[in-house]
Amino acid sequence: MRVEQLPVQTNTGNYNVYIGKGLRHQVETYLPKQYNQVFIITDSHIANMYLNDVVDSFSSEVKVSTYTVPAGENSKQMDWFHECHTYAIESGLERSDLIVALGGGVVGDLAGFVAATYMRGVDYIQVPTTILAHDSSVGGKVAINHPQGKNMIGSFHQPQAVIYDTETLDTLPGTEWRSGMAEVIKHALIADEEMLEQCFDLPSFDAISNETIADLLKKGIHIKASIVQEDEKEKGVRRYLNLGHTLGHAIEAESGYSSITHGEAVAIGIDFALFLSAKQFPEANLPNEAFRKWLEKHNYPLSSKLEEYNLDALMEKIKKDKKNNHQQIRIVLLSSIGEPTLVPYSEQSLMAELIEFRN
Ligand code: NAD
Ligand code: ZN
Repeated sequence: MRVEQLPVQTNTGNYNVYIGKGLRHQVETYLPKQYNQVFIITDSHIANMYLNDVVDSFSSEVKVSTYTVPAGENSKQMDWFHECHTYAIESGLERSDLIVALGGGVVGDLAGFVAATYMRGVDYIQVPTTILAHDSSVGGKVAINHPQGKNMIGSFHQPQAVIYDTETLDTLPGTEWRSGMAEVIKHALIADEEMLEQCFDLPSFDAISNETIADLLKKGIHIKASIVQEDEKEKGVRRYLNLGHTLGHAIEAESGYSSITHGEAVAIGIDFALFLSAKQFPEANLPNEAFRKWLEKHNYPLSSKLEEYNLDALMEKIKKDKKNNHQQIRIVLLSSIGEPTLVPYSEQSLMAELIEFRN
C-alpha cells in the first residue's frame, strides 16, 4: 500500500503527516532529521501491542527509552505529566532529542505537553493509533486536565511529523471506532459533501478496508489542517471544528468521562446541531435523516440517551464551556453541508430546544 503524505503549514511550524500500513516499523525513516535519543511515551494497552515495533524501528545508533502510563483519560493529569518529566531527566533526554507520542489522543496530548515544556520545549512526533487521533494529532493543541476542568493546562506545540500506521487500527475496539468516526463525519459535514456521502455509504466499521479508512483519515486531516492553517489559535474558523462539541462536552463531563466516549458524546451533539440547523435554516437541504440512520447503523447512543442526564446539569456544563470561550452561548450549526456558522442562543431558548430534542 502506498504511503500518503500531507503537508501541514502553521505559523509555528510545518510538518508532514504520513499515512500508511505498517508505518510503525519505519518511524525513523519518516523523521525530518536525525536524533541521538528518543523518548517514547505510550499507554499500557498500546505498549503490549506496538511499543516493541516502534522501538525496533530505530537504528542502533539512536538511544531509545520508553515510558508507559496507564491507559485512559486519567493519565492526562499532573502526576503522570510529572512522572514523564522525571523519567525523561533520568534518561538523560536533552534539548536536541525527540519525544514520541505513541497512542491515541490521551497519549498525544500528554506527551505533546511534556514535549512543549521539557527544557522549555523539545521536538516531538505523533504516532497515532486511534481514529480519533486523526483529529488530535494535527493542530498542535496539547494539554492535561485539571480536577476542575478538562484540558485546562496546556499549550500549542506543533509536532515535527505525524506518522500514522493504519494497521494499528485493526485492534481498536468498536467503541473507539465509533468515537473516532464521529470526528471523521464531523469533518465531512463542515467541509466536504462528497466525503459525507462516502461516510454514509460505509459498511459496518469492522468491515471497512484499510484503503478506505486511510482515505477518510487523509481527508479528515486535510480539512483539519486547512482550518488550523488559517486560524491556529482558534480566533475564527477553527471554532467550526467544535460542531457537536458544545453539547458533546457537557455530556462527557456529566458522565465523568467514563460511561461514554468523546466521539459518541459528540455524535449526539452533532445530531442536536443538525436538529437546530434545520430550524434555523428551513430552506437548507440538510442530511438530518441520513445522519440519524448512520448513527443507528453503527450503534451510536442516540438522543434518547439524554434521558439519563439532568438537563439543568447539562446546561450548567454548557455555560461553563461558554465561560471559557465567550460571554454568549454560540453553537456551531450548518446553513448547508460544508457551510458551518455560529448561532447565538439564550440559556432559555437552548433549554427549550434541548427538551424538544430529547423527546
Ligand atoms: P485514548 O487515547 O484514550 O484511546 C482510547 C482507548 O483505546 C485507550 O484505552 C487506548 O489504550 C486504546 N487504544 C489506542 N489505540 C489502540 C489500538 N490501536 N488498539 C487497541 N486499543 C487501542 O483516546 P482517544 O479517543 O484516542 O483520544 C481522546 C483524547 O484526545 C481526549 O483526552 C481528548 O481531550 C483528546 N483530544 C485532543 C485533541 C487535540 O486537538 N489535542 C482533539 C480531540 C481530542
Ligand atoms: Zn472532538
